[in-house]
Amino acid sequence: MLNDKINKRLSDPDVLLGILDNLPTSIAVKNADLQFVYSNRAHCDIIGKSEVELLGASDKDFWEPEQARKFLENDNVVLKQGIELDTEETATNDAGISTLLLTKKSRLTNSDGQTYLLVTNTDISTLRKREDQYKALTETIPVGVVQLEEDGTIAFSNQLFNAYCSGDVSTEGRNTFISKLGKSHEGFPGVACKFETDVVVAGLGRRSVIAISSGWLNIGSAGKSAIISIIDISEMMELRRVNEEVLRLNRELADNMAKLASAQDELLKKGRMEQLGQLTATIAHELRNPLGAVRTSAFLIERKIKDKGLGIESQLERINKGVTRCDNIITQLLDFSRTKQLFCQPADLDAWLTEVVEEESKRLPEKLCLDLQLGLLGKHVPFDPSRLQRAVINMISNASEAMSDHKKLMSAEPRITISTFFEDDHAVVRVADNGPGIPADVLDRVREPLFTTKSFGTGLGIPAIEQIAVQHGGRLEIASEPGKGTVFTVWLPLTALEVEKAA
Ligand code: ADP
Ligand code: MG
Repeated sequence: MLNDKINKRLSDPDVLLGILDNLPTSIAVKNADLQFVYSNRAHCDIIGKSEVELLGASDKDFWEPEQARKFLENDNVVLKQGIELDTEETATNDAGISTLLLTKKSRLTNSDGQTYLLVTNTDISTLRKREDQYKALTETIPVGVVQLEEDGTIAFSNQLFNAYCSGDVSTEGRNTFISKLGKSHEGFPGVACKFETDVVVAGLGRRSVIAISSGWLNIGSAGKSAIISIIDISEMMELRRVNEEVLRLNRELADNMAKLASAQDELLKKGRMEQLGQLTATIAHELRNPLGAVRTSAFLIERKIKDKGLGIESQLERINKGVTRCDNIITQLLDFSRTKQLFCQPADLDAWLTEVVEEESKRLPEKLCLDLQLGLLGKHVPFDPSRLQRAVINMISNASEAMSDHKKLMSAEPRITISTFFEDDHAVVRVADNGPGIPADVLDRVREPLFTTKSFGTGLGIPAIEQIAVQHGGRLEIASEPGKGTVFTVWLPLTALEVEKAA
């Protein structure tokens, strides 16, 4: 069966020789005297002669004596010792063309006992050129490159890489540098990786580099090799540092600008307050005395006309109301512009608040429902009664005014809910109404002194509440939902210490 198959195999020597002629590998056979007895076409091309010219001749007949000597020396080694030999040989023919050859030589003895030398050559000029191209390429990039073999030999390193080895470019020197890098990353260089590290280089000092390894690859001639790249990022790091510093300074600048803006606001506010203080003093002086005179005169007129049926009671009533309103405005102005020192004493805030609300309710429209929900359980809280009274009254009168101004729009009964409770180490006083609420654009401005939407408003009610809360070491919160109502919340710290700090 096997013989059957073998018999079918092509054995025509012309065809076989034709195949050999078509191989890119050059093949030549020499006899024991090292004369050519066969040469395929590729081999003829390397020498630049025809096969007929080659047969019976030897290397001496075609190559320069020195070159021929080298070829024959290798030939003899193979013939005599019977070993196979792999060498690289450069052959320059008559036309001056050099070819780099990977030459394989082996001894062959046929059945008649004849000895031959079999020579095959593979043209590796193109491969070598490509290798040179790659090496040249690595010299044009700002990256240190090394090819390290698994056994520690260095197959190649470019000049930049050598520069990192602090002058020692021996195999040991370069390996020392590679193992220094390896201290910063486990598995380096055998495992594919990329990391940043610092290296100290003679003449260059400390450099920040990115090290990249391909890990062991089958790219070496024998064992595995790794390609390692070193990229110097010192300048980049410096830039990064500078950039971070600039960012930090920018942030600082923005902070300072914000502080400046708020300081300016504060100054503006102070300036306004000072103007307001002067204005108030003038008004108090110029207005309160004549106002007193008007009130006294009205009182006297009232007494004089009593029971005389003059029918001017309503006018007198209007005079009295007007005087009271003016008096109230003056009180508010005076109260706000005088930043009196607080006089805080721990007291039962709930009990005190009950009295204040009772007193204030007398001045409110009858239809208004007042709801008091006390939750401080008689615990004492430090506060200044006269100042806090002003805050409570302002909150209640604002709610009442908002609801009587929008009576027609109110669907529910007007109601003010005043509640107290503890939260987060604070006593909280909250005044909520179910009035018209405050539109967002108005809400943004209500804390500004002199901001008012009322024709007779002073715009000092809310700033006074806030001032009083802050003087107590607390704060004012305003929440409002248009159409639903408004909630004013005053937070008062429970510890006298906080109050003192604020003072
Ligand atoms: P004034 O009462 O003199 O106008 P305030 O500082 O007390 O000054 O209040 C400023 C503005 O805030 C008012 O003009 C009003 O528009 C609005 N406001 C205050 N409280 C309420 C409230 N409970 N409901 C609706 N709007 C309110
Ligand atoms: Mg008010």
